[in-house]
Amino acid sequence: MTKTSYDVVVIGAGCFGAWTAWHLRKAGRSVLLLDRYGPANARASSGGESRIIRMSYGPGEVYTHFSNRSLGQWKAFFAAVSRPELFHGTGVLWMAKGEDPTATASLRTLAKVGIPFERLEESELRRRYPQIQTVSGGWAIWEPESGVLMAKRAVQAVVADAVRAGVDYAVRTFVLRRARPGSGRSTPPAARRCEPITSCSRAGPGLARSYPRPWRGASSPRGSR
Ligand SMILES: Cc1cc2nc3c(=O)[nH]c(=O)nc-3n(C[C@H](O)[C@H](O)[C@H](O)COP(=O)(O)OP(=O)(O)OC[C@H]3O[C@@H](n4cnc5c(N)ncnc54)[C@H](O)[C@@H]3O)c2cc1C
Repeated sequence: MTKTSYDVVVIGAGCFGAWTAWHLRKAGRSVLLLDRYGPANARASSGGESRIIRMSYGPGEVYTHFSNRSLGQWKAFFAAVSRPELFHGTGVLWMAKGEDPTATASLRTLAKVGIPFERLEESELRRRYPQIQTVSGGWAIWEPESGVLMAKRAVQAVVADAVRAGVDYAVRTFVLRRARPGSGRSTPPAARRCEPITSCSRAGPGLARSYPRPWRGASSPRGSR
């Protein structure tokens, strides 16, 4: 850490924290990014080799917009840092059966948002993918532009670029304990260090609680992952 105060401290260098720090820095803020184990570490949700990026989220149009915008940003970023291998445009095949309400709603959402897709009926599904055992009444949504992000390496590339752009990054565990007024207990050093912070963003499982409505109240997309 090279400074004693920052506009923003971002706690957690997973996918969310890494991109938050990156964008804040590009917007001209001074940023400190902390993670207790490192970017996309083995304990983090963003760790591991790969993640699917897809556009089908049933009726949840907001998630389709998020994902579409996100894919554009990932691809632009990989091109800018000469790491095209971190996205594999494999396409995504979403299998459904019968009147599957989520998949049926996805068809409407994809069409509305303008995402390229095909509905593959049972016979076409069997023809194109003989290696997959298609159930009777099965069909699928084919998203040709979706694919696979190389999760850990992609997040680490974002953090490396953020650092190149001037973000300070450190391996630290952030602990914020507030001393009760009159308790006579002193504020621990970690909290004292954070007093000048104007805004604190913590990624990870508690992320949803950190944001105002409508995001806080928004339900998770069905079948997300
Ligand atoms: C097995 C699995 C498969 C998945 N598959 C997909 C998929 O295919 N497609 C998809 O879109 N999503 C998928 N997801 C979900 C996606 O990976 C997560 O939504 C995303 O990685 C969450 O990122 P994050 O930055 O919020 O959290 P994390 O990656 O968990 O980052 C939080 C970070 O905060 C740090 N931290 C926490 N507390 C502190 C503290 N007090 N001080 C300092 N640092 C702290 C942690 O060390 C961690 O690095 C999957 C998740 C899992 C677990």
